[in-house]
Amino acid sequence: IQEKLDLLKPNTYHSVNTLLDDLALELAAKVDAKITKGESIGLLEGIPFGIKDVYMVQGTPTTASSDLLKNYKSAYTATAIQKLLDAGAIPLVKENCDSFGHGSSSENTIFGAVKNAINPDLVAGGSSGGSAVNVAKEYTIFSIGGDTGGSVRQPAGYNHVYGLKPTYGRISRYGLMAYASSTDCVGPIAKSIEDIRIVLNVMSGKDAKDQTTYASSEISKASLNTSNGIKTVGYFKNFIENDAIDRKIKEDFLAAIEKIKSKGIAVKELNFFESETLVSTYYTLAMAETASNLSRLDGTNYGNRIESDNLKETYAVTRSENFSEETKRRIVGGNQVLSQGFSDEIYLKGLALRDTISENFKNDFEEVDIILSPVTPNTPPKIGESLKNPHAMYLSDAYTVGFSLGQLPTLTIPQGTETGLQITAAKNNDELVLKFANFLK
Ligand code: GLN
Repeated sequence: IQEKLDLLKPNTYHSVNTLLDDLALELAAKVDAKITKGESIGLLEGIPFGIKDVYMVQGTPTTASSDLLKNYKSAYTATAIQKLLDAGAIPLVKENCDSFGHGSSSENTIFGAVKNAINPDLVAGGSSGGSAVNVAKEYTIFSIGGDTGGSVRQPAGYNHVYGLKPTYGRISRYGLMAYASSTDCVGPIAKSIEDIRIVLNVMSGKDAKDQTTYASSEISKASLNTSNGIKTVGYFKNFIENDAIDRKIKEDFLAAIEKIKSKGIAVKELNFFESETLVSTYYTLAMAETASNLSRLDGTNYGNRIESDNLKETYAVTRSENFSEETKRRIVGGNQVLSQGFSDEIYLKGLALRDTISENFKNDFEEVDIILSPVTPNTPPKIGESLKNPHAMYLSDAYTVGFSLGQLPTLTIPQGTETGLQITAAKNNDELVLKFANFLK
């Protein structure tokens, strides 16, 4: 544990917001004592992990990488994190990310842009950039990111590690700072499928504190070593045949498809919505939900309050000074799509499109077992580029947001293309996703 803390300390990649050294060493000493006494320890006992800085861990800072919460300390611990602590895992670090999960590059943060683990001139991806980098550099054995529209899968792809967005509701969101509640998911990042499986099993389950959770059964190691249930793989032709996709990503993806065919799996081309439709549907709903969720951050109960002439001014100044440009863009956009005169035309249309997208998936999964896609159409941009062009940044989410709107289980694996392959199955079929990843190895 001390060795890992020493690796994190210089913060070379800007992946660290807060080092949890006291807590980590205290917990490690307990595991040490057990080992000294000759007691047996569990699978996760003593295993060091990282936590995206949007999860509550009682008594430790939870900043969401924002000025607003830079001095905030969690009053309680998130369910998913508590389950890992109960299993004996050791939290080392609260990890840098895009503020409130708003971004696809981990540059929207007061702690400095996170650098890509493979090429530090490039972005780490976002919003769980620090988490993916810490795993890639082996500073942590696994990290817990959060995925609303791709924030686990995309940085996992950019840093060549595994990242899972489970089925919505499989893991409790209690204690995960809300971004867009209808797609927010707790997601593990790790260096192997087996590590993802173990951590997923520990965190899953029904939680009275999150009414959208459901009971799921454990995924066994043995179940991942068969190819039962994998007969047909589909891919969206329009994700591959378009002008926006990087040429090499396209070539590599088509090569991966050929490899799958050579393993005796049938491959089917499918049609899906265009990138602009997917991205605008997702951002309409995500902005509306975040405008609502962040309305409580006015300096009254939480956050860095800036006093002004009267209460209304105090709210305005507190929010104007403490939210980033990107977060303010989303709050303004969200309030606009929800406002009278716009909501029918924009917000309700977004909701209707989401239903159509889910319906589409239902039909697809009657014909195929797995849907395969590149994680992004583009390779990781240079640091600085996304801040200049938010629209381009939104479009880099084109291949991840649809699966979020469908609430499907979907996994990034570090192979196939430079930014990885994304494996998706029908709702509640997280096991099949991991099984297929194993099968492709
Ligand atoms: N990049 C997407 C966004 O900014 C997804 C972020 C996320 O999953 N938290 O909304």
